[in-house]
Amino acid sequence: MYDPIVEPYPKSHQQYPDSYWAKSIEKFPETTSLVNDIQADIAIIGAGYTGLSSAYHLAKKYGKSVVVIEANDPGWGCSGRNAGFVLPGTGRLSLLDMEQKWGRETAQSVFQEYMESIDTVNDFIEQGNIDCDKTPGGYLKLAHKRAKVEGLRKQAEKLSERYGESVKFVCSQEVNNAFLKSANMFGGIYFDKSFAVNPMKLVLGYYQMATEAGVKVFSNSPVINWQQKTNHHCLYTQNGRVTAEKVIIATNGYTGSKMHPLIANRHFPVLSSIIVTRPLKISELATIQLKAGLMAMDTRRMKYYYRLLPDNRILFGGRGAINGKKANNPINKKRLAQGLKNTFPVLDKIDIDHFWSGWVSASCDNYPRINHSEDKSIHYSMGYCGSGLAFSTLAGKRLAQNICEPESLPNLPFWQSQLPKFPFSQFRRVGLSAYYALASLRD
Ligand SMILES: Cc1cc2nc3c(=O)[nH]c(=O)nc-3n(C[C@H](O)[C@H](O)[C@H](O)COP(=O)(O)OP(=O)(O)OC[C@H]3O[C@@H](n4cnc5c(N)ncnc54)[C@H](O)[C@@H]3O)c2cc1C
Repeated sequence: MYDPIVEPYPKSHQQYPDSYWAKSIEKFPETTSLVNDIQADIAIIGAGYTGLSSAYHLAKKYGKSVVVIEANDPGWGCSGRNAGFVLPGTGRLSLLDMEQKWGRETAQSVFQEYMESIDTVNDFIEQGNIDCDKTPGGYLKLAHKRAKVEGLRKQAEKLSERYGESVKFVCSQEVNNAFLKSANMFGGIYFDKSFAVNPMKLVLGYYQMATEAGVKVFSNSPVINWQQKTNHHCLYTQNGRVTAEKVIIATNGYTGSKMHPLIANRHFPVLSSIIVTRPLKISELATIQLKAGLMAMDTRRMKYYYRLLPDNRILFGGRGAINGKKANNPINKKRLAQGLKNTFPVLDKIDIDHFWSGWVSASCDNYPRINHSEDKSIHYSMGYCGSGLAFSTLAGKRLAQNICEPESLPNLPFWQSQLPKFPFSQFRRVGLSAYYALASLRD
């Protein structure tokens, strides 16, 4: 599998992974690659949620000429292979962590931003009439040990006091009555605004809306070289070149090792993996009683996340391999199957029909940045730490605003600094291995 730490860019003409989502698409859009030299106001690298959302807003709202250059096909990165949880958040800092770090007022504004990220996904779905199997169901963060329950209860109390009724604590009995039956879950925090989608249908919807707004999207055209001139940038692909005044880097976890010095060593691509089971039998469904549309995640350091799919399969995700070479090693699939069994023992030995992985972008201080170069000609948004479906959609809109009407941006920490560099970045994977070993012991 492509490895962004080792390789400079993803090679072209790579298939979508053998995912449940790719299988659900009857006909992918026909795309073309870049075969000549073109000019645009803004060139965007990467056709996932970030790139397509910013392209759409730049073209539709601000009338800019926009070209998106994608190494493979739209949604080939994380956007077409995630779990489809539309969550009110990003990064790894909770709102309470943020209160401690930046104060209550800023945390309140971040909360508003998270709510707006969900609204922005909804706006896309409504305006583009995107049929992405949207299923309301809410998000449940579950204690995987009794010792975690009290912490969650306190968090829920504070969150609902400060951020409204959309957040509540549910005890283990309520979890069992209303959400899922598992002897190994002990209570949790429930957010009712979240919903589930088919992420591939969503990103293809963004693609269609962007192209209808006049954006030119070129597939199978990795940027292999970048030259900055006095007033413009030249991005080179195998068979063509884009010249643009401004460039947006929207490559997140798929950002190759030599993309641009502005972001070098400022994030850490980490693999997250998913298994999807065969459809459950009625008896199995009756045993686990997992509520349709519910998105669940546990409190492990190495979190498991899961949901019931519309055709009664279970999607179950968690950490992946340490590097691209080992991504498809069956041991990763086995680890997830074991996690599924621990959560729902009745599903021991259930057939797994799909297994795939994708690169998430971890930032050193656990939250993303939307920022730009000193001369404001290069913009980027990355570091969502595996929680970027809703936030990247909003980030795309914010990138467009930052270019066209920067005064309209909310004043939040996401824009106030660059992503920090990882110290000893060449040892990131050694650190990750050690972290995984320690975390699995403590979990
Ligand atoms: C297994 C998994 C499950 C996840 N589940 C969830 C979830 O349920 N909810 C949630 O909120 N988040 C989830 N995420 C994270 C979420 O999917 C991402 O945060 C989000 O999709 C990021 O979108 P993006 O557009 O920034 O990047 P991507 O969708 O990754 O797009 C980047 C694109 O850049 C392209 N690219 C890279 N280099 C070049 C180059 N040199 N030239 C041209 N193109 C290039 C790539 O081909 C890629 O298509 C999950 C991630 C994974 C891997």
